[in-house]
Amino acid sequence: MTDQYAVIGNPIGHTKSPLIHMSFAGETGQDITYTAIEGPLGGFAAAVDAFRAGGGRGLNITAPFKLDAFAYATDLRERARLAGAVNAMKFEDGPEGGPEGGRVIADNFDGVGLVNDIQRNLDSPLAGKRVLLLGAGGAARGAILPILEQKPAELVIANRTLSKAQALESQFSAHGRLSGTDYAALTGGRSGRFDVVLNATSASLRGELPPVDTAAFAADGLAYELVYGKGLTPFLRLAQGVGVRRLADGVGMLVEQAAEAFAWWRGIRPDTRPVIERLTVPLI
Ligand code: NDP
Repeated sequence: MTDQYAVIGNPIGHTKSPLIHMSFAGETGQDITYTAIEGPLGGFAAAVDAFRAGGGRGLNITAPFKLDAFAYATDLRERARLAGAVNAMKFEDGPEGGPEGGRVIADNFDGVGLVNDIQRNLDSPLAGKRVLLLGAGGAARGAILPILEQKPAELVIANRTLSKAQALESQFSAHGRLSGTDYAALTGGRSGRFDVVLNATSASLRGELPPVDTAAFAADGLAYELVYGKGLTPFLRLAQGVGVRRLADGVGMLVEQAAEAFAWWRGIRPDTRPVIERLTVPLI
């Protein structure tokens, strides 16, 4: 029987996940369907129950349900537990062969997708580098452990609400060298220049710019915008304006996190390059 997968979010009309996963399935010869589900606000668990009752084997989870998925899971893998959010679930059958009593294993591949894109596709190893992460929301939280696993010289998290960056510093301090700060601490080059600057804020969705000082950028570094498909966002424009030569948006992250989920579900790793090329919007 054809195995069923889906992405659940609200709204969900913009999602590229069905296109990505069906491309992977075609390339690897996997017999699956992958659809998009608009989950009702406040009705996440019922929508997932219905999907599982209909034979669903796995789900991707996008906004605003990543915390609901965290609560729904029976088994949290370490990345999801530390991120406090889930973006992929795998459903196992219960004792009767259906979803009743079956385990729900949950992971978060957003951060590993980001790191894979930076290191493999953009050829920018993070080991020994100074990395600046802007934002302290769900995307930033998911990225911290995968970044620290690459042994950067230092990870600085800057957030508008300082207390959230400081909380992340305490939470992850056992995993590597990191500090949480506000944007003021970056002004005038007080914190030095960074080899990699990641915009994990949602500012670009509204055409806004996080108040990062241009002195934080290194011309031979990488400026990476997690938002994708919007061309040159204010953040990328700022980086370009101070001479940063390597600019990227989050399309590669999106495709790489999908590839991690696909490999976890299906036991076969797809080639991500053709899909990234197909979805890339020029940074102009
Ligand atoms: P959250 O809502 O959890 O967090 C938003 C963060 O942005 C907070 O740290 C907030 O700061 C900060 N912020 C918002 N507006 C501004 C502003 N004008 N100036 C400075 N900081 C600001 O969002 P997520 O972490 O879930 O997502 C962040 C972005 O990452 C989204 O835009 C999303 O599109 C993208 N993303 C991309 C993925 C991909 O695959 N490419 C995957 C997941 C996310 P404060 O705490 O002070 O409010």
